[in-house]
Amino acid sequence: MAAPVDDRFSRCVDPAKASNSVEARFIDKVKGKGLFAKRPFKKGDTIFIEQPLVSSQFLWNALYKYRACEHCLRALETAEENARRLSGLPALSLPHPELCKVHPDRHQACPHCQVVYCSVECRQAAWEQYHRLLCLGSSHQDPDHPLNKLQDAWRSMHYPPETSSIMIMAKMVASIKQAQDKERWQRLFSHFCSRSANEEEEIVHKLLGEKFQGQLSLLRNLFSTALYEDRLSQWFTPEGFRSLFALVGTNGQGIGTSSLSQWVHACDALELPGQQREQLDAFIDQLYKDIDKETGDFLNCEGSGLFLLQSSCNHSCVPNAEASFPDNNFLLHLNALSDIGPGEEICISYLDVCQRDRSRHSRHKILRENYLFICSCQKCMSQVQEADMTSEEEEEEEEEEGEAEGDDMEDEMTDV
Ligand SMILES: [Zn+2]
Ligand SMILES: [Zn+2]
Ligand SMILES: [Zn+2]
Repeated sequence: MAAPVDDRFSRCVDPAKASNSVEARFIDKVKGKGLFAKRPFKKGDTIFIEQPLVSSQFLWNALYKYRACEHCLRALETAEENARRLSGLPALSLPHPELCKVHPDRHQACPHCQVVYCSVECRQAAWEQYHRLLCLGSSHQDPDHPLNKLQDAWRSMHYPPETSSIMIMAKMVASIKQAQDKERWQRLFSHFCSRSANEEEEIVHKLLGEKFQGQLSLLRNLFSTALYEDRLSQWFTPEGFRSLFALVGTNGQGIGTSSLSQWVHACDALELPGQQREQLDAFIDQLYKDIDKETGDFLNCEGSGLFLLQSSCNHSCVPNAEASFPDNNFLLHLNALSDIGPGEEICISYLDVCQRDRSRHSRHKILRENYLFICSCQKCMSQVQEADMTSEEEEEEEEEEGEAEGDDMEDEMTDV
């Protein structure tokens, strides 16, 4: 009989294949665990595909009419609707509409609270995992409902660019409360890395800003009123709530979906005669210019999720793998950026492409502030001598970064 597949693989699209491809191993006290290849991968290979344990769209993002499936974050606007809204051009029409993969005829609303799903499968999956408990029923517009109060409070503390959502924590509690095998769900969540009390304090400070102590206790009160459960009483104490908050803050992986970007990828793949190709490319270039003027950088449905297997990947400033969301939903594809040999550690980068090109000093500052660790990847080790050679320009640049701090985490791998 085959050995039972480790919990960590339980959300992979093909758990048996994933468990033959990679393994999570303890490295040392400093690095904790890491993910290692069990077989060779070629550059461009998909290492595994994984669904999050829980995920949620960001609350401001949803409020600003970025319509996404409440369960899988699939964008619900057609590419044309999406392009019209983002460019502010209501009469715009997209060529090749057949390349839009959105199927409004399949969309399903919860009959009790009207939240929208991309499909009957998502509606059922949400209902079975957490929505039976989180469904607001006829109170969905009642501002005094405890869950609405919690979300309002969260929005008033955490402005765009958003990096996390209180609803991830609500879905964690609801998933355990609803589950038949509650211990299994508690065990699954216990795989995510935890922090010391001081580190948790720093993470919460980073997420909520200067007034974080008072805000955290306000959130905890609202969270308890909406969701208290005896079995999980440890999550509702001041220390336990702070831990839960820090867990979501450090392990949450950004998810971005977009009907328009999916349509653009399909256009890029079309084989067209020269002139038509040029016309289409020019159309798309102009569209992105119009969108940039109207909307700036906020292109995608944005949210975050907790991914069991992906969360065991460590950071490197020269990563050999990266996450993407090519299916326009919450399915994370981890792809090899270079050839990877058996036994080699699989690392992703917590920094975006521009940040990775900065000096060691500058990279370390971002990683220290957002993720509380000192990077010792190959690149950083080879640049140790540069540590004290920061130029004045760079310090100025870092001050600017400091002002735009929120961007650092938000930009992390939400490309679609
Ligand atoms: Zn869906
Ligand atoms: Zn509902
Ligand atoms: Zn590094």
